[in-house]
Amino acid sequence: MICKWGEEMSLPACQHCHSKWTWREVFFKTLRRKMKCNYCGAVQYVDSKSMKRVSFISVLPVFIWLPLFLLRTSLVWNIVVLFVILTVVMMFIPYQVRLSNKEEPLW
Ligand SMILES: [Zn+2]
Repeated sequence: MICKWGEEMSLPACQHCHSKWTWREVFFKTLRRKMKCNYCGAVQYVDSKSMKRVSFISVLPVFIWLPLFLLRTSLVWNIVVLFVILTVVMMFIPYQVRLSNKEEPLW
């Protein structure tokens, strides 16, 4: 699954009009699961597969950051690292989102 991520590194397209969404559109809309396409107005949903991927990526920073925290490195260093990890993860999330015309059950 992880090795397939490389091929799928692109922004999602509306499944109704096939317009590619911008990073900003995807990022702010992913916060809600129901999203309206800016180009054709169709309601789009995050598909269940990418929803799982996004939730997985969202918890990753904790696992990367926790060992650093336990190592008791300096507080400033901890904050800097956490900030960098969060930024990278946030940049990455919209590329993992795939859209669907209908709402899919998460599990
Ligand atoms: Zn559309």
